[in-house]
Amino acid sequence: MGAFDGVRVVLDGTDILRRLTESGLRGRGGGWFPAGRKWHAVRIEGGEPFVVANGAEGEPGSIKDRFLMTSRPGDVLEGLSLATRAVGAREAVVYLKGSFSRAADALEAALRSTPLAGVDVRIVRGEEGYIVGEETALLESLEGKRAWPRPKPPLPAAVGFRGRPTLVHNVETLARVPAAVADPAAFRAGESTLVSLWGHVRRPGAYEVRLGTPLRGIIEACGGGAPDGVGMVFPAGPSGAPLSAAQLDTPLDPDALKAVGSSLGTASVLVLRASACALSAAASLAGFFEREACGQCPPCTMGTASLARVLRAVESGEARARDLQDLAEVAGFMTSHGYCAHSRTAAASATGLLLRFGADVEAHLGGRCPRPEGQVDPFADGSPERAAIEACLA
Ligand code: SF4
Repeated sequence: MGAFDGVRVVLDGTDILRRLTESGLRGRGGGWFPAGRKWHAVRIEGGEPFVVANGAEGEPGSIKDRFLMTSRPGDVLEGLSLATRAVGAREAVVYLKGSFSRAADALEAALRSTPLAGVDVRIVRGEEGYIVGEETALLESLEGKRAWPRPKPPLPAAVGFRGRPTLVHNVETLARVPAAVADPAAFRAGESTLVSLWGHVRRPGAYEVRLGTPLRGIIEACGGGAPDGVGMVFPAGPSGAPLSAAQLDTPLDPDALKAVGSSLGTASVLVLRASACALSAAASLAGFFEREACGQCPPCTMGTASLARVLRAVESGEARARDLQDLAEVAGFMTSHGYCAHSRTAAASATGLLLRFGADVEAHLGGRCPRPEGQVDPFADGSPERAAIEACLA
């Protein structure tokens, strides 16, 4: 029985929206925006609302959405059903990458066994690539166009799929809706989230974790610890500055992580061992943002390339202090430009890492790496770290 079965028949759309808002559920697609506000915005637009479940997981190291769609597809569809009723939609899609065949099969089977009353739902296997996970790029792809993010405003809640008011939610957000609506107070009191824990831990994988749990506890209890000690933790994968080993008591919570200059994002938590070279991690990070920039906005395209070039030079001991001043200027410019968050996230992650690991930067500028045996490239396609967590889905 789903979390919502006991009260399904008595709630109308207004009740569902009120209860969801009371629960305080926040979106798991990276922004942690209150779901109730998003639903309300779509509902008041009127017209022909449309709902999209975003299952185009692409953050390096993240497996939690595929884990969820494969193991609990009914929860995703139940949340989708509640969302469509709350905003008054009669059409919805679940959008996945074309390669996510197991997740698509699981969703199709769940849909066949429990069709959604009054809603036309399609499971769409779309494009590969990282940027299609951005909600407006996904909408472009759904409309048959190149998956490029749209300038904002307008937001999809006002002008989304084919101009209609559109609610786009990450699949984990939707999967949590039934429990949030069934008992808003209990949900608010004990909210948890799915974490993709990867990197240099004994047991990479997807774990359900109570919000507020210290990072140290997650690494130990879920990951079995890091055999060679922890050097840095990226709580949001590439989408936030890493924390040092001295910050492992920071709670896994979007607000707590923001307060220390990082973020939670999609909770793709990367742990790097103490012997890992911080500047090789920085170069890996910048290389990821350079590769995945879609090419629409020159400040992002040129900025990410510039960050990657300078960080590779710092890593190899060929940079000067002046190069870091230039990097800071480029990063500052990137922060306020771009159609999507890619540009400013790249700037924040890279500069945050450099600030936090200043002693390593100084050593490299002096031509010396403090951890010369610790070259890593975790954000590269097919890196050992990414391969290890992807294998957990097999
Ligand atoms: S900010 Fe970067 S990734 Fe986003 S639309 Fe512009 S070029 Fe593409």
